[in-house]
Amino acid sequence: MKILVCGGAGYIGSHMVAYLLENGHDVIVLDNLQTGHKDSLLGGKLYIGNLKDNEILDKVFTENKIDAVIDFAANSLVGESVENPLKYFDNNIGSTIKLLEAMNKYNVKYIVFSSTAATYGEPENIPILEQDKTFPTNPYGESKLAVEKILKWCDRAYGIKYTALRYFNACGAHINGKIGEDHRPESHLIPIILQAALGKREKIMIFGDDYNTEDGTCVRDYVHVSDLASAHLLALERLRNGGESKIYNLGNGKGFSVKEVVDVARMVTGINIKAEIAERRAGDPATLIASSEKAIKELGWKPKFNSLETIIETAWNWHKNHLNGYEK
Ligand code: UDP
Repeated sequence: MKILVCGGAGYIGSHMVAYLLENGHDVIVLDNLQTGHKDSLLGGKLYIGNLKDNEILDKVFTENKIDAVIDFAANSLVGESVENPLKYFDNNIGSTIKLLEAMNKYNVKYIVFSSTAATYGEPENIPILEQDKTFPTNPYGESKLAVEKILKWCDRAYGIKYTALRYFNACGAHINGKIGEDHRPESHLIPIILQAALGKREKIMIFGDDYNTEDGTCVRDYVHVSDLASAHLLALERLRNGGESKIYNLGNGKGFSVKEVVDVARMVTGINIKAEIAERRAGDPATLIASSEKAIKELGWKPKFNSLETIIETAWNWHKNHLNGYEK
């Protein structure tokens, strides 16, 4: 297939591009390189531009016979979204609308959309099922949920078939050691812990130890970025084989507390990473664990990196060999 990956130079997008290339697909990337990195692309044809720009979309779709689209292009900082909701609604919803208009215009009928566990907000059940209530506690999750709804109506009106994948905590790095996580500023737990292991930070701050969990710290479901990539391709194949539009959770179905993640990282790195308890971070639910039974059953998804130790090993391999990320 010839697949357009929007936001392909980002963390998850670049692992998607690698996975598609490894599986013999033709890849076109559209990325504005605002948060993405050119060097994270292991191949494919890159168009640098903004999804909200009709001209670049026309160029991409006329110069390439696109079979399907995978859309990662979005702002994704929860805290920033609370400070500046309009930026999130404008960019995340506005850009997908433009993309869908172009897909309709150029008769492209399949899209896999990058959604999030943040669509659920404070969960009503653990593990979380796709049909559970969605009540986002931040504008980032709200913007992704809005796009899911827009996709539903575009399927009805234009016959664009979609799969929305709600990721839990994406982490890890490609086993080839060439690509990994490089956010600026970094806000995610595992890269922050590993930066502390490398002496780039003095310590890690654990945001709250008075949650209603076993050790009082927040529990999350960590899922390897290459496993997320494999689910996207399975979802596309399913759509191309006549599958209906659907929504799936993607996680490992197992929760780890922040303290447990720090402990596993200490074991993997052999470094006594310093940790200190700090205030809770606003908007953090105590526990988020996915049920991915639906993806396993219907997509035939088989996560390969389902132990936290392996996930952290792959991340460690990337961080210790790329002390400044993609910066030369
Ligand atoms: N966390 C933490 N210290 C940090 C960064 C994150 O204690 O420096 C916690 C955070 O409160 C959450 C978990 O680690 O409970 C995972 O956070 P992350 O930002 O990686 O992902 P999120 O769950 O927000 O998607």
